[in-house]
Amino acid sequence: MVRIGITGAAGRMGRTLIEAIEEHPGATLGAAFERPGSSLMGVDAGELCGRGRAGVCLQGVVAEALDAFDVLIDFSSPEATAEAAEVAAQSGKALVVGTTGLDAAQQSAVDRAALRVPVCQAANFSTGVNLSLVLLETAARVLGDTVDIEIVEAHHRHKRDAPSGTALAMGEVVAQALGRDLHAVAVYGREGQTGPRARETIGFATVRGGDIVGDHTVMFAADGERLEISHKASSRMAFARGAVRAAVWLAGREPGRYGMREVLGL
Ligand code: NAD
Repeated sequence: MVRIGITGAAGRMGRTLIEAIEEHPGATLGAAFERPGSSLMGVDAGELCGRGRAGVCLQGVVAEALDAFDVLIDFSSPEATAEAAEVAAQSGKALVVGTTGLDAAQQSAVDRAALRVPVCQAANFSTGVNLSLVLLETAARVLGDTVDIEIVEAHHRHKRDAPSGTALAMGEVVAQALGRDLHAVAVYGREGQTGPRARETIGFATVRGGDIVGDHTVMFAADGERLEISHKASSRMAFARGAVRAAVWLAGREPGRYGMREVLGL
């Protein structure tokens, strides 16, 4: 049985992770962490998501509960992720990173951790999205430079970063397949007298509203036909199940960086 610790346990993803761990036959909740000073400190993690007592209470300091878990799953904030990565590296704990919007310094804390412990980081842990990354690579290779590529994503009103980490990951896969540098060709929104579209650009459009869990469409638009590859998440369980699957898969692996492609055997 793999014992899992969660950072960001009271958040939207944290609560869903608690449920996903309970469902998984090979995993158990070992520890649940929240922002130090949170009013939820000491609350039982199971009761937090209306599932009855789990016997694990929310606490603030990961380093103080190292005996309670084997793998740490982090869906919190970029600052907390960088701290979690340092603690995981120092304590030899495997790490699953779901938090998006990391800056260069926060990302390098995760990269440093991967030199010492197994790390699985993904902008999106759902099976469908990870399969769509494989389909996108094929589509980009076949359609090549004959199409205009646009990526549209929609999320709930609380999301902090834009475009989503998943949209960027999709753009990265397509750009790589076409031998383009995403930083050089990405266009993040358009306004005013934009002029005609340059063929090599990859456009991103962002929608925010309501309780949309996460929609992504990549459009390959040619003259006379258009291919669209879309994924729509209707529940956070899609991400949580994938993250728990990654945590169980990661336990006992060699240090290094792993992705969902490896976890899912794609
Ligand atoms: P949320 O705001 O509902 O939850 C984040 C939680 O982290 C909050 O409860 C907050 O108090 C807690 N937190 C902040 N600092 C902390 C600290 N120092 N220690 C412990 N906990 C701390 O957000 P959310 O919707 O659950 O999303 C969290 C992150 O996961 C975001 O970056 C989001 O983009 C990302 N996300 C990734 C995927 C994926 O599949 N990779 C899917 C959904 C969301």
